[in-house]
Amino acid sequence: METDFVKWLLPRLPAHPRLEVPAGDDAAVLRPPAMRRTVITVDMLTEGVDFILGPDCTPRQVGHKALAVNLSDLAAMAARPEAVVVAVCLPRSAGASLAEGLHEGLAALALEFDVALAGGDTNAWDGPLVISVTAVGSVPPGQAWRRSEARPGDLIVVTGPCGGSLLGRHLRVQPRCRAALEIAGRLTVHAAIDISDGLSLDLSRMMTASGAGCQVDLPAVPIHEDAVRMSRDQPDAGSRRTPLDHALADGEDFELLLAMPPDDAQRLVCDPPAGLSPAVIGEVIAEPGLFATDSTAARRPLPPQGFIHEFDG
Ligand SMILES: [Mg+2]
Repeated sequence: METDFVKWLLPRLPAHPRLEVPAGDDAAVLRPPAMRRTVITVDMLTEGVDFILGPDCTPRQVGHKALAVNLSDLAAMAARPEAVVVAVCLPRSAGASLAEGLHEGLAALALEFDVALAGGDTNAWDGPLVISVTAVGSVPPGQAWRRSEARPGDLIVVTGPCGGSLLGRHLRVQPRCRAALEIAGRLTVHAAIDISDGLSLDLSRMMTASGAGCQVDLPAVPIHEDAVRMSRDQPDAGSRRTPLDHALADGEDFELLLAMPPDDAQRLVCDPPAGLSPAVIGEVIAEPGLFATDSTAARRPLPPQGFIHEFDG
């Protein structure tokens, strides 16, 4: 199966001017852009954990998502995507259509963002589908956005509405690569992270890394219509989570959280990159932790919530 799949895949990996030696040799050779640093990231998706294949989740969508989540991590570093390699573990029972679908989803997104597909490897086994993408990007020296450089007085901007991504948006991730490069080109960003596990959880990670805290203005948090739908359609009214709860905790929004000097944050909100609806949702403070404010209540702690991969033992 492996040899057959690689044989099938190789002619489908298009030549790209960035590849001095394309896929098909023992390894590919990449022409690194002059005077830029290499940024590298990997993300693995497992069936049953990150997705469940079915009518609402096609192999093509899984291929798209596997690449998109990596591009989102590059966006969170203000890095330009350059190349990717893909490793897939296929269930032995899977037909060729699964591999084809994965490749279609990957290839379409790679084309959209001008990313070179530099190679792939496939195994077959008795377990579920696993797909791992390693993405390479580039950034000018010293210009990568870190999550650790937020400063008291910075405003926190989120690049779009959050919550309810499980209704399907998590499979149609639109990585914020172009917006990130545009923002990096014209505004100052002290710290950045992408929202993979939950707005409040990822914000708390940024604050912990920065040795700071954040006061979140709850009414300012942009709520996606999916979050409203999810809250409304919940059968048990007693334990119903509000749309805001979903926006703060659901994750897989793949919007960016940016810590910016106030003037730059305001400029971003007033004049955003095309297709972006950024909003200021809070302010970085010296006191560690997350705190919530709204128009009626005093400041109170805001427990970070979101998705955490758990281990036994
Ligand atoms: Mg990330």
